[in-house]
Amino acid sequence: MDFRLSEEQQLLIDGFQKFLQRDAKPLAERFRDQLIPVSDMRSIQQAMLDFGVGTGVVEEQLGGMGVDSLTTGLLQFELSRCSPDLAVTALIQNIVGKLIRYVPEGKKQSYVDDVLAVRRFGCVGMSEPDAGSQITAVRCRAVEDGDDYVINGEKMWISNGGYSDFIFLLARFNDDPVGGLGLILVERTDGYQTSDISKMGLNSQSTAQVSFEDVRVPKSNLMIAPGQAMKTLLISLAGYRPLVSLMALGVAQASLDASVRYAQERTQHGKPIAGHQLISAKIGEMATKIEAGKLLAFQALSQVDRDERSDISAAMSKWYGTEVACDVVSEAMQIHGGNGITTEYPIEYMYRAVRPFMVTEGTNEIQKLSIGRALTGIDAFG
Ligand SMILES: Cc1cc2nc3c(=O)[nH]c(=O)nc-3n(C[C@H](O)[C@H](O)[C@H](O)COP(=O)(O)OP(=O)(O)OC[C@H]3O[C@@H](n4cnc5c(N)ncnc54)[C@H](O)[C@@H]3O)c2cc1C
Repeated sequence: MDFRLSEEQQLLIDGFQKFLQRDAKPLAERFRDQLIPVSDMRSIQQAMLDFGVGTGVVEEQLGGMGVDSLTTGLLQFELSRCSPDLAVTALIQNIVGKLIRYVPEGKKQSYVDDVLAVRRFGCVGMSEPDAGSQITAVRCRAVEDGDDYVINGEKMWISNGGYSDFIFLLARFNDDPVGGLGLILVERTDGYQTSDISKMGLNSQSTAQVSFEDVRVPKSNLMIAPGQAMKTLLISLAGYRPLVSLMALGVAQASLDASVRYAQERTQHGKPIAGHQLISAKIGEMATKIEAGKLLAFQALSQVDRDERSDISAAMSKWYGTEVACDVVSEAMQIHGGNGITTEYPIEYMYRAVRPFMVTEGTNEIQKLSIGRALTGIDAFG
């Protein structure tokens, strides 16, 4: 195994770090805990395209850059280290970019052009108020009516929902729990409504409830037919669990960076607190946890890039990386003492921002059950 970045990746990351400090950090600080308006979000996401962030994933045959999963992971880690909110929006653009090949032919080119240029924001709607870990419980229904489908139902927790011009919607076309689910393109102009959800963190980007009330879309908008959708989505989305892990670890890295500086500068009992063994040991543990989490994610992403089986390492990476990231940020808060819980310092923001990553993209409990099922061949979900 070779753990070195290529010269090209190193140059990319160096340039991206400079860009983030100059352009992204001021925006993230200006909108701390407030929703970044769609026009500002669009501009910053457009600027990041040069580095291959977001829709950089779109394959070269469609006009994109075809950025590989491992490089995407390196970029998402750095972006989240600067702003987890911007990283979430970029991740969803990335998922949309990955699925854009399924947009029906008549509309595909205009979607590819607009998504590549971030003229349109998309989102992916799978979860519902009563269908989270159990995706087969999806109730949002598409009913045939002449040349159209009429859609009714609710989607929940939809990242970029409030920004979205369109949604790739997982809907129920018949009662077969898995075989009845299909993916369909619905445009904002077709009439879906969004309402942003107020959360403990990550409020600078949109997470929305999306409602469909007799929303009529042409049958030709069907992207992945019922029966094919779940399998296709599972394969297409294989690389996203390690990316979420790296985003959580990016926040953890930022909290470690701040803790190292703080421990060097803050003096108690006659010396910098870094000189007290318990603080020094905390820093050692934090750095090791981040490194271990990154290696698991890199392994999973390398498997995705080589088209190898990646489900087990992706699940390991997702639960382990997000869990140690939360531990690390909690220790960073402890190192900062009283200052850690104030809004003068960045740690309390990170503490609130990192926690949702243990839930999203499949909860950590579900990841562990998936690993157990893969190893034993026995399903313990029910
Ligand atoms: C910030 C954020 C962004 C998100 N973005 C999107 C998005 O863009 N699109 C989208 O479709 N969804 C999105 N989600 C939804 C996310 O995928 C779900 O929250 C997740 O799948 C969990 O579903 P739930 O919240 O309904 O929890 P539930 O499934 O109700 O789980 C509740 C608890 O029960 C546990 N549990 C459930 N089943 C089992 C079992 N069989 N055995 C043991 N424990 C179990 C879970 O681990 C959890 O601890 C997002 C969520 C968050 C927090």
